[in-house]
Amino acid sequence: MTYRIRAHHGMCLSFFQGKGYSGAFTENMWKMKERLAQNPEVLLVCGTDDICARCPNNREGICTSSEKVEAYDRRVLSLCGLSENESLFWDEFEALVQKNILTAGRRESVCADCEWNALCQ
Ligand code: SF4
Repeated sequence: MTYRIRAHHGMCLSFFQGKGYSGAFTENMWKMKERLAQNPEVLLVCGTDDICARCPNNREGICTSSEKVEAYDRRVLSLCGLSENESLFWDEFEALVQKNILTAGRRESVCADCEWNALCQ
């Protein structure tokens, strides 16, 4: 099974503590965390993914903040040396995000204007 993961969700999953846009969203987020903990293959995308699937902001496959969040996705890919539609194992992607963005202190250069920013300090 390959999961579709939009690139900036590689950061969100590190900070997720059960808060989200709706009950259905947070339930799906926990499920995705469990699935990703098995280290499946993931397809990196810059559009709606398997986390967006249960989000109330997902309107027929388009995020209501699509311009903003696609910019986050592209910044994550660039900082990690990855490309849209690239496949790799989750652990490898998570390690690249950790090394190149989170540990490197670059998270706010990606998503400082996100409404959840205060949760990710
Ligand atoms: S806000 Fe947009 S990018 Fe974030 S989970 Fe919802 S649909 Fe996906």
